[in-house]
Amino acid sequence: MRLLWLVDVLRAAGLTVREYDGWRTRGSETWGPLTGVICHATAGSRTSTDAGETRTLWVTGSTSAPVPISQLYLSRSGEWTVGASGRCNHVAFRDVRPSSPLAGSGNSQLIGVEAQNDNRGEPWSARMLDSYQIGAAAICARMGWEAWRVLGHAEHQAGKSDPLGVDMDAFRRRVAALLEGDDVSWSERLTLPAWVVELWGDKDGVATAGGLLTSGYGHARSVNDRSKTMLTEQRAGFAAVLAKLAGEDVAATVQGLLEAAAVRERAERQAEQAALAATLADGVLAGLREQLGEVADERLVAAAEAGVRSALRRGVGES
Ligand SMILES: [Zn+2]
Repeated sequence: MRLLWLVDVLRAAGLTVREYDGWRTRGSETWGPLTGVICHATAGSRTSTDAGETRTLWVTGSTSAPVPISQLYLSRSGEWTVGASGRCNHVAFRDVRPSSPLAGSGNSQLIGVEAQNDNRGEPWSARMLDSYQIGAAAICARMGWEAWRVLGHAEHQAGKSDPLGVDMDAFRRRVAALLEGDDVSWSERLTLPAWVVELWGDKDGVATAGGLLTSGYGHARSVNDRSKTMLTEQRAGFAAVLAKLAGEDVAATVQGLLEAAAVRERAERQAEQAALAATLADGVLAGLREQLGEVADERLVAAAEAGVRSALRRGVGES
């Protein structure tokens, strides 16, 4: 049995994949059935080269393992190299942890990935981890496996610490998300919605997920900076208002308001008095008409009425 699909499957996942000479026939074809993927770190130096690392994996071997050491190699650059399609020597069966979900599996059942990291605290770049997870998910998808079948070497074998610094639970969550199709890779090209194209003046209308994240971060940062400036300005404005209120202007304003209220009150009182005067005038005139009822001269009555009304108006101050 040979994993001759490795190159195609990884490339189909959007990864950059190199082929190491002889990979199609490297490693015994007598192996299987396969049960999972083991994630390793090469534990070379921080300045190791791809050429040096792959030579160890597939040409010279290491002090602890003969060639071929693993089927796959992941470079710090995020690029993959396929070096073997058959059985390799990346785990030791005698030390397998009973607690490993893949206990019972050894080199004959496991696909190995050696990632370029010193395994002594070297940080794992987001780009490299992204590629690692995408590759592991692509293998799982091809094999019909769920994410739990991806283990760190340290999880599977006692006395091992690799890949040191990689949170394998988070790793598997990402693999699961990729398998479920609800995740995108760092390098996946996404079609932008029309409003983003308009906003950015983007010609292609396409951006990578990584690019979008970077842009999104930049946008969020500029909004944050702007809002900080606005807040500072608002605080300055509010302080000025408080200073004004605390000064003489307050007394003047309050005095003005009180005066306006007093004027209105006087006007209302005046209006009431005027209405009262009119009522009084009507009553007085009604009585006057009654007394003058027998007098035929209408002009005399009208003159008397006018005189009374005028007198009453003057009495209440109405002009
Ligand atoms: Zn290992």
